[in-house]
Amino acid sequence: MTTQRTVLVTGGNRGIGRAIAEEFIANGHRVAVTVRSGEGPAGSLSVKADVTDAASLDAAFAEVEEKLGPIEVLVANAGITRDTLLMRMTDEDFEEVINTNLNGVFRVLKRATKGMIKVRFGRVILIGSVVGLLGSAGQVNYSAAKSALVGMARSVTRELGARGITANVVAPGFIDTDMTAALPEAQQDDYKKRIPAGRFASPEEVAKVVAWLAGEDAGYISGAVIPVDGGLGMGH
Ligand code: NDP
Repeated sequence: MTTQRTVLVTGGNRGIGRAIAEEFIANGHRVAVTVRSGEGPAGSLSVKADVTDAASLDAAFAEVEEKLGPIEVLVANAGITRDTLLMRMTDEDFEEVINTNLNGVFRVLKRATKGMIKVRFGRVILIGSVVGLLGSAGQVNYSAAKSALVGMARSVTRELGARGITANVVAPGFIDTDMTAALPEAQQDDYKKRIPAGRFASPEEVAKVVAWLAGEDAGYISGAVIPVDGGLGMGH
């Protein structure tokens, strides 16, 4: 019988975050999701928060901890893209992505690990991307933020590994969500040709890996980058 945990997923109203929340709920855990808009799936506690707004996170964490107890599993999933070639990328395009996809992860990581240290158990799962290590034309901002998560997970592993806390990056390839639907069709076809599996994945395929990583059986995996990419990033 698996221990029921308190799980927080950022950006749980749609896409990969929502599928992750659904998977944890199906496995019987206590699940909270942060939302900027909309609601998380049935059975979750939705708390309003924007990862770029520290005060909103303070309020969200206080509410989750009061209603569900200390957070034992953090899934830092909220993220955005502002794709454009370097020559056209504005300071705002760069800073907005870093502020959400990197600084936003730091903000939730710091708040969540405080409780994990007290309960001497924690699973930190950062949603990175295959492009963090592979690179991607038009994504200097996004790939920089995603590769930084690897250093973050590994430093957390070194700082907190002896306290029952693991920290890993799950690096999806191309997953069918609003984020990839926004790509031009020609670009989607080009990606499909480069993916050995020959297809995009469903959000559920990422969710299953995240749930496994949060479970008892994955307690000795830390500082790893786990690809869920159909082979796209092999060797990186
Ligand atoms: P979506 O665009 O479908 O959803 C993004 C989620 O992040 C939404 O819930 C959104 O909330 C939330 N979010 C964005 N900015 C903020 C913010 N400032 N504060 C709080 N929440 C925010 O993306 P995906 O589901 O596709 O992506 C989820 C994660 O997976 C991201 O980190 C992404 O980089 C990563 N990823 C996705 C891949 C893919 O192929 N789809 C591949 C590799 C990685 P709202 O609805 O309010 O905008």
